[in-house]
Amino acid sequence: MMGKPVKKVVIAGGGTAGWCAAAALSRFLGPLLDITLVESEEIGIVGVGESTIPTIRTFHSFLGIDEREFLRATNATHKLAIAFENWGRDKDRYLHAFGEMGVSNWMAQFHHVWLEARSRGLVGDYGNYGFEYQAAEQGRFQGGEGSRLSYAYHLDAVLYGRFLRTLSEKIGVKRIEGRIQTVDQDSETGFVTALNLESGQRIEGDLFIDCTGFRALLTEGALKTGYEDWSHWLPTDRALAVQTESRGPLMPYTRAIAHGEGWRWRIPLQNRVGNGLVYSSQYLSDEDARQRFAGMLDAEPLFEPRLIRYQTGTRRLTWNKNVVALGLSSGFIEPLESTSIHLFQVGVTRLAQLFPFSGVNQPLIDRYNALARHELERIRDFVILHYKATERDDTAFWRDRQAMPVPDTLQERMELFRETAEAYQDAGDLFRADSWVQVMMGQRIAPKTWHRLARMMSDTELRQALSSIKDRIDHAVAALPPQEQFIRTYLAAPPAHGRPQPAM
Ligand SMILES: Cc1cc2nc3c(=O)[nH]c(=O)nc-3n(C[C@H](O)[C@H](O)[C@H](O)COP(=O)(O)OP(=O)(O)OC[C@H]3O[C@@H](n4cnc5c(N)ncnc54)[C@H](O)[C@@H]3O)c2cc1C
Repeated sequence: MMGKPVKKVVIAGGGTAGWCAAAALSRFLGPLLDITLVESEEIGIVGVGESTIPTIRTFHSFLGIDEREFLRATNATHKLAIAFENWGRDKDRYLHAFGEMGVSNWMAQFHHVWLEARSRGLVGDYGNYGFEYQAAEQGRFQGGEGSRLSYAYHLDAVLYGRFLRTLSEKIGVKRIEGRIQTVDQDSETGFVTALNLESGQRIEGDLFIDCTGFRALLTEGALKTGYEDWSHWLPTDRALAVQTESRGPLMPYTRAIAHGEGWRWRIPLQNRVGNGLVYSSQYLSDEDARQRFAGMLDAEPLFEPRLIRYQTGTRRLTWNKNVVALGLSSGFIEPLESTSIHLFQVGVTRLAQLFPFSGVNQPLIDRYNALARHELERIRDFVILHYKATERDDTAFWRDRQAMPVPDTLQERMELFRETAEAYQDAGDLFRADSWVQVMMGQRIAPKTWHRLARMMSDTELRQALSSIKDRIDHAVAALPPQEQFIRTYLAAPPAHGRPQPAM
């Protein structure tokens, strides 16, 4: 299969995925392409998706985005971690923090040393040994140039879309307002050739990016790509979302608080808090969910909670013929680890790397799909881990999660960790070994053995080694300002002169 040379790119949909794709392709390859985005204001966007992971900063640096401009435009705050509450058992709490834990060496990761020290009664919590972990716990933060913290953002999804739209239009993306009614395909190849709008306008293209959200108008509506359902592993399928006024000091982490049939999020922005109740409709009715959610909010809601339905899973192919699906059209893993925005930002970056300039061809499609699939399946495993590794048995939902079979790839990882404390990040995996360790230990998987490296140290040596790491972290965290103070000072500074150059 070889299509014609690709010059005209049409992006269908203007949610966060559509505008990220538009901004990235025009920034990376603008002079070589003619990029048009079609969106329908009448249909609107999903309007959630406010917690991110640190890769967003790499994406922003590729786009040459000034951090202050971004923070002002989107009311964003900084995120160092997710606090998981009530997951292993009711009242349990641990953080999954960004950055590294302790100091690892080539032979063994830090947690092996910590496990040895703990078995001898020489240490406190594992979380004492993470810079980001401790900064998050204490609500302290210092970002910007020269910051040593690994951090991401909490942002306003609607404002982020507008920010990216302004950026994209400045650098040459054409926007067409209108509702896509039908999709034309080549009768021989099945390639999409044009989008027909309700207005009668016809938009032709060589390559189409499907960013139409859950509707998946091109990849599913036209190409019938097919969907792989993962809801037997991740059965939450509903979310109620609402914003509340800010209350209490700003904290640099997302809260993910488990309840009887799912969990709820709390995402603090500069001006308000995003809240959501995620649940499984197999176990909890919408009416009961609404009542429960109302009782959980710590401030007045700013509007009626909005119900969003989804099904966890993935499109069988992310790139099919001349259509690349990005965002919710490509599938959805529930938002527990805030990975959706990352997935389409890395998806469009990968597309720029594998761009089919001389024509869409199958080896390129296969390579793209293989990379996307690997990353997605490991993220899926990581999210399933939070449900599987639990000792909660208070509801049918949690008992069923404990009992469910999980993908072999996850089963093997859990067994390896339980038997030997070994955790790893393979090439193409998003989550670092430290992330797996924090969640596995946080959810009470207790390794039976660990690397013997630290056995060569006396109690005194081990205690000293660990306390010097902890002292360094305590000292560094004490030097950071409270997050709110940092944001105020940082945003009061004048805008940077000139736009920073993209890093590629
Ligand atoms: C409950 C929930 C919580 C989430 N939380 C997070 C999170 O914390 N972190 C994270 O990274 N991600 C999160 N996500 C995912 C995140 O919201 C999405 O990945 C992100 O918003 C991108 O959405 P999208 O652009 O693919 O779709 P949408 O925002 O739905 O945009 C679809 C676009 O297509 C257009 N469109 C559709 N049909 C037509 C048509 N016929 N004609 C013209 N235009 C059309 C719409 O107008 C719109 O512009 C969450 C998702 C859900 C459901």
